[in-house]
Amino acid sequence: MLKVSNLVAGIEESTILNGIDLEVNAGEVHAIMGPNGSGKSTLASVIAGKEEYEVTSGKMELLGEDLEGLSPEERAHMGVFLSFQYPVEIPGVTVTNFMRTALNETRKARGLEEMPANEMLKLIREKAELLEIDRKFLSRSLNEGFSGGEKKRNEIFQMAMMEPKLAILDETDSGLDIDALRIVAEGVNKLRSKDNAIIVITHYQRLLDYIVPDYVHVLHQGKIVKSGTKELALELEDKGYDWLKQKTTV
Ligand code: ADP
Ligand code: MG
Ligand code: MG
Repeated sequence: MLKVSNLVAGIEESTILNGIDLEVNAGEVHAIMGPNGSGKSTLASVIAGKEEYEVTSGKMELLGEDLEGLSPEERAHMGVFLSFQYPVEIPGVTVTNFMRTALNETRKARGLEEMPANEMLKLIREKAELLEIDRKFLSRSLNEGFSGGEKKRNEIFQMAMMEPKLAILDETDSGLDIDALRIVAEGVNKLRSKDNAIIVITHYQRLLDYIVPDYVHVLHQGKIVKSGTKELALELEDKGYDWLKQKTTV
């Protein structure tokens, strides 16, 4: 699904990612952990193609296609989904209307026709039901007055609607309460399938009590310093990140 090889990237003045190798296959959930400032969000942004970052060397492939030079929109149309850390409020636009527009835009970019209104409504209801989203939620104004948990629910709902090949969920470093964590986790568990891959970026070991990842990677100073299975997350909770920092810094 995703193959990242020797990726070096950053902003003009400085390198943030120092040679990342990461291979994610269809059907897998990978967790990326690491201390604040280690480059987790940058990695997500670079995969999604955000233009503020510059790739100096290395390669990224999605389903065998080189991502070099592709805009964030083009990558999204190929099936890359990146959750928003800070979702925007759009007063007057309901959750339903937003989803309808987003999905139709994507279909258009893929050369498909707009989905007929009744079919769209059916799909929205199906996905809402799957994620146990209340009907009332669908007619609310996007992100307006949403609680942390509701923002997460909306994000997962969006992921369900877009049916991405590769979903990257970047969790903020603070402020996610246990309800929000659970919403993310339950959503991810329901949406994981043999046809997609999910990367969950988190600071919290707790999240991985609910989402059992196939692999865990620890990022430190822009490098993956350790990879393992879910046990690695437990080890980290136990020993903290300093244990790995000592190993890698001179
Ligand atoms: P994490 O998500 O692991 O907390 P980030 O990827 O947000 O880490 O940041 C890694 C490092 O790169 C930090 O030192 C951060 O200040 C820096 N950085 C990230 N994005 C930018 C940017 N757009 N401009 C300047 N510095 C940045
Ligand atoms: Mg951070
Ligand atoms: Mg971050």
